Amino acid sequence: SHLASEDLAHVARRQRLLGPAYRLFYKSPVEISRAKGVFLYDKHGNEYLDAYNNVVSLGHSHPRVVEAIQKQLEVLCTHTRYMQEPLLDYAEALINTFGGELGRTGCAMFTCTGSEANDLALRIARYHTRKTGVIVTAEAYHGNSGAVAAISPSLGRKSALDPYLRTVAAPDSYRLPIEEIGRRMAEDVARQITDMERHGGGLAAFIADSVFSSDGLYVDPTDVLVPVAEVVRKAGGLFIADEVQSGFGRTGTHLWGHSRHKVDPDIVTMGKPMGNGYPVAGVVLRPELVAEFGSSMRYFNTFGGNSVAIAAARAVLDTILEEGLLDNAVKVGGEILDGLRSLQKKYEFVGDVRGAGLYFAVELVTDRDRKTPDMDRALAAVNALRDRRILISATGADAHILKIRPPLIFTSANAARLLEGVDEALRSVQI
Ligand code: PMP
Repeated sequence: SHLASEDLAHVARRQRLLGPAYRLFYKSPVEISRAKGVFLYDKHGNEYLDAYNNVVSLGHSHPRVVEAIQKQLEVLCTHTRYMQEPLLDYAEALINTFGGELGRTGCAMFTCTGSEANDLALRIARYHTRKTGVIVTAEAYHGNSGAVAAISPSLGRKSALDPYLRTVAAPDSYRLPIEEIGRRMAEDVARQITDMERHGGGLAAFIADSVFSSDGLYVDPTDVLVPVAEVVRKAGGLFIADEVQSGFGRTGTHLWGHSRHKVDPDIVTMGKPMGNGYPVAGVVLRPELVAEFGSSMRYFNTFGGNSVAIAAARAVLDTILEEGLLDNAVKVGGEILDGLRSLQKKYEFVGDVRGAGLYFAVELVTDRDRKTPDMDRALAAVNALRDRRILISATGADAHILKIRPPLIFTSANAARLLEGVDEALRSVQI
């Protein structure tokens, strides 16, 4: 597709000012000037259906969140070193959403980003265990700080990985026998721990996103993480659930992704949708972990958990619960999943369709028997959808898996439009 000359000029200017580490979506990049609900608009007023951005899970510019932020900003925006009742009220409400021991006795700590939340979780885990080793899945992404980028193999082969990092295969339900996935993953983790210990180190933590987003989205089976957690705990390590992707109702049936697996984490990290666009993230953890850490050093995060962040987070959590957005994700998500499965019957190159709540993966292959990743067709499909003004992206090591992740307020009508668009886009790349 051809870029208009003004777009070419913008891209060149961007390259000059921001440098090459920033990447734009799409062959023909989109310039967004405003957004409302499930729609984004470019400067010409064209409407784009957002089926990708999980930060704004209540929809863009949600009135209740905008109002909460604005009102709080007019009154006070300061940090956690002053007493502020709303901070405690939110911490309590958040902790109360957890089952098990965390829900009864957990502590909450606040950061600005998911990366900082994982960074803090990692520091605490290493402090508690006095060990350094970390295990993640093969294409995991846990953030952009030095420490967490080093446990994020999805950043690419050339990125500097932590010398104490070990990886295990993701629970690939498309390629592995379903009944064996949990056992295999636990064995894989046990093997890595043994190897780690033999080399003089030891396990601090196993960290996983319970829907394995960057590995390719493996939402089922859900009996995988309990056997893994058993092996991790036996070795004295901590189980950290990274809920940045799977948290706050994304999977529909549960507020937290790890609850689908019925696993009890030692530490939970969260971010992205927590403030519906306002930067707020955090950690909920077992109190004794933070007691040890906190008695030997202080933790201060200038903007983490500031008054406005807490007001935004409060409005988000209340809206999710009061407006029944989990139920909506189950209902509309079910419609989308059915529709995508029909498309799988229609198009030979759709090898697998996976989904939970409002998170979907459509895996494109050149050959159904060999399940060979079809990166080119996936890229073409993402761009074909963009040309139809429907925004999605791709995931997995080979970027051959369409990643669809609409706001939790998606309606049946939105779903129908999305499915029609996906059908047309797949037809256009069929040849
Ligand atoms: N963990 C996971 C699973 C993520 O998907 C991301 C962001 N893509 C992060 C952590 C990092 O969050 P942030 O970009 O807010 O630092």
